Amino acid sequence: MLVGSYNPILVFFSFVVAVLASYTALDMAGRVATSEGRAARLWLVGGAFSMGLGIWSMHFIGMLAFSLPISLGYDPLITAVSLAIAIGASALALWLVCQHEMPWSRLVQGALLIGVGIALMHYSGMAALRMQPGIDYHLGWLTASVLVAVLASGAALWLAFRLRANLHRMRLWRGLAALVMGLAIAGMHYTGMAAASFPEGSFCGASNGVDTNWLALLVIVLTLAVLAITLIVSILDARLQSRTSVLASSLEKANSELMQLALHDNLTRLPNRLLLEDRLSQALKVSQREQSCFAVMFMDLDGFKAVNDAYGHHLGDQLLIGVTERLRACVRAQDTLARLDGDEFVLLAAITGPDDAATLAAKLVQCIDEPFVLSRYSLSVSLSIGIAVYPGDGEDGRDLLLHADAAMYHTKSAGRNGYSFFEASMNANAAEQLQLLHDLRLAVANGELRLHYQPKFEAPAGPVRGFEALLRWQHPRRGLLAPDAFLPLAEKTGLIIPIGRWVLNEACRQLREWHQQGFNHWTVAVNLSAVQFEQPDLLGMVTEAIERHCIAPHLLTIEVTETVAMRNPETTIETLERLTDLGIKASIDDFGTGYSSLLYLKRLPASELKIDRAFVKEMSVGNEDSVIVSAIIALAQALKLEVVAEGVETTEQQAFLTGLGCQTLQGFLLDRPMTPEQVSQRALQPQPGQSAFIVAEPSLIAEPS
Ligand code: C2E
Ligand code: MG
Ligand code: MG
Repeated sequence: MLVGSYNPILVFFSFVVAVLASYTALDMAGRVATSEGRAARLWLVGGAFSMGLGIWSMHFIGMLAFSLPISLGYDPLITAVSLAIAIGASALALWLVCQHEMPWSRLVQGALLIGVGIALMHYSGMAALRMQPGIDYHLGWLTASVLVAVLASGAALWLAFRLRANLHRMRLWRGLAALVMGLAIAGMHYTGMAAASFPEGSFCGASNGVDTNWLALLVIVLTLAVLAITLIVSILDARLQSRTSVLASSLEKANSELMQLALHDNLTRLPNRLLLEDRLSQALKVSQREQSCFAVMFMDLDGFKAVNDAYGHHLGDQLLIGVTERLRACVRAQDTLARLDGDEFVLLAAITGPDDAATLAAKLVQCIDEPFVLSRYSLSVSLSIGIAVYPGDGEDGRDLLLHADAAMYHTKSAGRNGYSFFEASMNANAAEQLQLLHDLRLAVANGELRLHYQPKFEAPAGPVRGFEALLRWQHPRRGLLAPDAFLPLAEKTGLIIPIGRWVLNEACRQLREWHQQGFNHWTVAVNLSAVQFEQPDLLGMVTEAIERHCIAPHLLTIEVTETVAMRNPETTIETLERLTDLGIKASIDDFGTGYSSLLYLKRLPASELKIDRAFVKEMSVGNEDSVIVSAIIALAQALKLEVVAEGVETTEQQAFLTGLGCQTLQGFLLDRPMTPEQVSQRALQPQPGQSAFIVAEPSLIAEPS
């Protein structure tokens, strides 16, 4: 037997290469498993190549480390075949690792195939020596070497499969695993070498005189280079991939935030109209397919505007959030609760029938009925609901919404704080509103607007101090309309601005006419709504009107309701100051219905308070309303404001108010609002039994021109 020996340096390098090749193999497994498509295929091919090269060169260096007393060489073709086998086995290993599952059967089959492949590579590599007469193999060691190869492959497969995903301390785990695998691969090699013995007198058929040391160096350098390049590329790719995935996930996040913004209401985070419409169309499809029904509930808060005006937007917003929370608690997760705008909400709910909808609606109304306690205020609002049920109350989402809205208006007009189901007659109302708006646009140009004048009397029964101008609309088909029939519409659409300008001019013109008739102490009061009060050129408009009609400013009074005045007290003070600087009088209308703060009231440059007619109406000696009225009168006197009581309908009220010190009375008892012609008639030809319209001697009054 020839006695072989090992070069310890090369043995060491063979082990280093084994470990590095194992590490590369594990890394490649991770790459292949986390990439997709073409990238995964590229990694599989490249990985199989460098991993195969690594395993093969470990064996090759191991063989180069071995020397016999004869000179050795390697047949290039057989060596190439052994390399190809290593690459093939590596490719199989990588492919197995990147599968979704690794059942035991697959692990065993894989270990067998790869183990046998490595053994084949090893023994074909030995065959490349082309020893003559041949190598003697010890069967026991040979079997052991194949077993080691199979076991090492099994362990490697299992480790690679477990370590392919990104675990905590990945590199450390991979390093340890590579060490174990490297040991196993080297173990296989040296077991295989132990199986071989070379009979005395053997010679190497492939010997070509090349120095094996140089060959070993070349293979080591080449292999290390390939492995290093593979690893570097892999690390760079992993970084790029993680960056791309960070970018992708932040893009996704931004996208979903944008979606949230576009489809939800900012304040309450409830779905907005857009999302509601989408859910509506889905609900329609589902209920057509499954023959089921659903309800669209249009909800509007009663009294929200007053809270918002009086306490400011911040508290209004908090109230809306509180309302949202309560509503949400009443609805099921699969129902859609959306906020349209302001205090309008819509609920889309699957129901079994109208009874079901009624129960739900009653629950919703009830949950809002309890006061809301928000930053030391207890605020009360209520809920008006209109219900449209599909099928039956509309063909599509738009119809259903319109009909639920119409039903909601019905609830409002029926006293609020409740619910109503849609009925065909309500639809007429909605169409009517649309027609009315159309007509209203033409009303100013067509000269259909009128002013009626209601006198304000010196308590108890005259004379007249002035008039309040009250708007009427002589509608071509509907006759004379009172302001509550069209003013809300005008305010909502902004038409109130041109209408308001007309009112102011007409009132001034009329006053001028009366002055010219001799009633030169008469005054006129004009009402301004919130929209008008906030219009930027209010001052210019008022100045222009009084100048055009030569009205002394102190004879014109501007009436704003308490609610409007307290909506934004600081700006109200500013606006009123500018008006009163011109000499115009300001009056706080419907006093007692809003939430005035005494602090602001004191600073308001108003000269008059008008007690809301609701208090006057309910007043009887000693009751709560009469206490409120006397308190308002006392307050006004303390603030040196004139008090006007509106809505005086009975002689008792007249006497009571006069007794309390109220200086001016206005109401049906004394006179109703009347046309300018009626005013002239009343002034010039007083009838017995009528309130004293004037004190001036009739002779002082000029005949109407
Ligand atoms: P307001 O300013 O409080 O006007 C008084 C309202 O009370 C008038 O109703 C008047 O007819 C009514 N009234 C007067 N005396 C009595 C009475 O003894 N009993 C009862 N039950 N009612 C009485 P009208 O004319 O329907 O006006 C309603 C509201 O419409 C007004 O309330 C005012 O806020 C608004 N308005 C009227 N004209 C105009 C206008 O030209 N511009 C603006 N922006 N608003 C106006
Ligand atoms: Mg008024
Ligand atoms: Mg009033």
